[in-house]
Amino acid sequence: MKACLLPARAPIETNPLRYGEVPAPERLDPGQVLVRVHACGVCRTDLHVIEGELAPRKSPVIPGHQVVGVVESVAAGASRIQPGDRVGIPWLHRTCGKCEYCRAGKENLCESAEFTGYTVDGGYADYIVAPEAFVYRIPEGFGDLKAAPLLCAGIIGFRCLRVSGIAPGGTLGLYGFGAAAHVAIQVARYWDVRVLAFTRDERHQNLARELGAVWAGPGLARSPERLDAAILFAPAGDLVPAALENLKKGGTVVLGGIHMSPIPQMPYELLYHERVLRSVANNTREDGEDFLELAAKIPIETQIETFPLADANRALNALKHDAIRGAAVLTVT
Ligand SMILES: [Zn+2]
Ligand SMILES: [Zn+2]
Repeated sequence: MKACLLPARAPIETNPLRYGEVPAPERLDPGQVLVRVHACGVCRTDLHVIEGELAPRKSPVIPGHQVVGVVESVAAGASRIQPGDRVGIPWLHRTCGKCEYCRAGKENLCESAEFTGYTVDGGYADYIVAPEAFVYRIPEGFGDLKAAPLLCAGIIGFRCLRVSGIAPGGTLGLYGFGAAAHVAIQVARYWDVRVLAFTRDERHQNLARELGAVWAGPGLARSPERLDAAILFAPAGDLVPAALENLKKGGTVVLGGIHMSPIPQMPYELLYHERVLRSVANNTREDGEDFLELAAKIPIETQIETFPLADANRALNALKHDAIRGAAVLTVT
């Protein structure tokens, strides 16, 4: 099959992904499904895997964890999913179901979780294998390409919104306005939340205004109004004190990324008055199911830029340099 393989971590400017023939998955373990990939979203986490901000767990590896495709075959023991079903495969490949986090309903924190496109091969390929218990059915209203960014950008943004405590009528700051924020703002607007967008790139500021932001300005700007909550999608630690400074007493700043540059030293008064600073790690399957149902109901309209699978390096270079409007998606078949 055709795939983009990462032989070793390297800066994306060196175009480290190799497009070519690799062996297709041959054997399915019990409960697994084989999926013919149609589209795969490009996520900032793919950049962190490729450039090595996340320590290598499998090498070489095929990246990609926002996969949409059709099930080609199922292993013995699979019962939830049938051949011909259209499914989405997310970042969370599998959890153990036994550790203290899994037992407590916090499978996103599982001690021995496997991750798509990081610890197991991902969706920058013609075929991918996943456990049927961890794939989603894609709501009918979404085409393959437009559905792909829902599977990580969408779901993680939704979990960030959930834990931010934002309520109808509240005021929310979104820091960084890429794939995740352009979906999250649509959910927030649906909940009747006022959104302010903080992002350095003017094209991203314009997209935020088009999608209903009441204000858009640079990342380090003083907010024209105090925020009930803020979500940081940009991986820049110096945004943390800036966001706290714009926050009301008792408000929450949520850090949505898997990696962030160091957070600078800051005075305690930025956090005092019961402000909360927290991260989000992965998501539960419940987050995913709830989000996809809501996304179909709103309905969410993702804005995408498509690239052929062979051009994954180009898509990732564009993502790194803020040149994607909305989300980048690889067309596989
Ligand atoms: Zn576990
Ligand atoms: Zn992702």
